[in-house]
Amino acid sequence: MYRGRLIKGIGGFYYVDVEGKIFECKPRGLFRKKKIIPVIGDYVKIDILDNENRKGVIEEIEVRQNELIRPSVSNVDQVVVVFAVTRPDPCFSLLDRFLVSAESQRLKIVICFNKVDLLDESDYREMVDIYTAAGYKVILTSGILGEGISDLSKELKNKTTVFAGPSGAGKSTLLNCICPSLQLKTKDVSLKTGRGKHTTRHVELINIGKNSWVVDTPGFSSLAIDLMDEESLYYYFPEFTPYVDTCRFNSCKHINEPGCGIKEAVKLGKISQQRYNSYIQLIDEIKKGRRY
Ligand code: ZN
Repeated sequence: MYRGRLIKGIGGFYYVDVEGKIFECKPRGLFRKKKIIPVIGDYVKIDILDNENRKGVIEEIEVRQNELIRPSVSNVDQVVVVFAVTRPDPCFSLLDRFLVSAESQRLKIVICFNKVDLLDESDYREMVDIYTAAGYKVILTSGILGEGISDLSKELKNKTTVFAGPSGAGKSTLLNCICPSLQLKTKDVSLKTGRGKHTTRHVELINIGKNSWVVDTPGFSSLAIDLMDEESLYYYFPEFTPYVDTCRFNSCKHINEPGCGIKEAVKLGKISQQRYNSYIQLIDEIKKGRRY
């Protein structure tokens, strides 16, 4: 048997990359009986039926490290959250929502601020500082000028990466810079979305180097946020955690309680007011039971 990676599925066929060779595979009948559905991103073992025409059978699916729902893809290591520094202006509560979502799925996170060619450094310095102080790796790029692409590519080595961010942030342009063979596909997608059509896209993994994959989903603008409870939300703001022990009450939700260590840290400027505002906003949404 050969070990490979499931990179896409079309019309009941699964395409498995075995060291750069793509095999068209059917899953073993046993999977259907057991209701096991292969997921893009799965590491699989295949039997080769026809080497010349690259056909095979998926015999085994390895245990998944994780599985995202939207996009439906498994064994993801990290998310690159892409926001433009301007055009459109970044919505920080949305950015924080992406981060909380990724944190809750225990993914490594890289923030990419794109379109830096459109502003002076002093205009976006504050947002970079806020997220660097919160503990995130921040990369500055200009997809149009190709700036920062090598920094970004370095972060993608030996990982499986999903790109996320609002439309207009320049995800497609960045993906094209990283992987020029994607060119046509992303153009195709932006044309479709430009017409406002909701076309279902098949998720596909693109190999960008040894053990390095990106999930080709430039159309995805949001990551699912699992329903969380108010008590655990702070945990997804990594810069809050050092202060939790200083709260007077164990049950502190860091909203109105007296002696709250997190609110004190905000007051002292150790935690950004903007990040804390996002926290409060998300707490409100959880209370209202809204789901994103
Ligand atoms: Zn507190």
